[in-house]
Amino acid sequence: PLSQYDAPVSVPNVSFDDIGGLDRAKALLGDVVAEVKAAASARDIGDGPGGFARGVLLHGPPGTGKTMLAKACASALGASFLAVPMSRILVGFVGASEKALASLFAVARSAAPCLVFFDELQAVFGVRGASKASASDNNLVTLLLTEMTASAPHGVLVVGATNVLAGIDPALLTPGRFDISILVDTPGPADRAAILSGILAAMPCAAGLDLTSPRFDAIVTATDSASGADLHGLVHAAGLAALLRNVVSPTLTYDDLDASIARSALLHSS
Ligand code: ATP
Repeated sequence: PLSQYDAPVSVPNVSFDDIGGLDRAKALLGDVVAEVKAAASARDIGDGPGGFARGVLLHGPPGTGKTMLAKACASALGASFLAVPMSRILVGFVGASEKALASLFAVARSAAPCLVFFDELQAVFGVRGASKASASDNNLVTLLLTEMTASAPHGVLVVGATNVLAGIDPALLTPGRFDISILVDTPGPADRAAILSGILAAMPCAAGLDLTSPRFDAIVTATDSASGADLHGLVHAAGLAALLRNVVSPTLTYDDLDASIARSALLHSS
């Protein structure tokens, strides 16, 4: 049944340190990781039912690091990461979504400890009537909560992500359900600097290309409103230009970064 979900079920190799900025989100998720670990230890010594039945909801604009954060949580827990393609749940036949959801949790329990990640949570568990699965929404929400509660003692943690918090069925957001809701927002200047320096640290940069240069500040300012994914795209496009210039020994320069920003501004204005 594992093959039913094409995404590999393995422990991700992403640490919270790989994620630039987002200090508040990282701290809150650090608390969740500690609570999940405490629940598992209590279970191991027979002191309580174990498990962490509350769901965590990450919400914010696209490309801000929600998936990375969920993977870092799984890494910190030594848990496998099961990303759920919503298309697998949104199946047309009556009762098929329920069946898919139940078999997903069976997979998660067999892969436990496991973090189940629902991206675009609102696509299936949306405000009633607004989602495509509206006919069976109610059943699905109830089933999700039942499965979460039943699977938690086996070491299954559920994390959902959405770009539209207002689109989530409010029944999912009440206490004891997805009641840990964490905003993952577009990065401000300090976070952009942290994200950029993290990405640049893994690249062959020209001497002087670092946080202390005024040109670095100019890049941070010029990328106002960019998400982490946008910054990643910008730096990699600049890296590609450096590579085309010198395949043998590429060196990324400020001019590459400036040109990459100018190109992306053109793309966005057209
Ligand atoms: P979506 O809502 O579109 O699913 P998301 O919030 O889940 O997006 P991610 O998939 O985590 O975003 O991020 C996409 C890519 O952008 C990451 O693989 C990473 O390369 C880069 N990225 C985003 N945010 C950060 C960050 N804070 N630090 C470092 N890299 C980041």
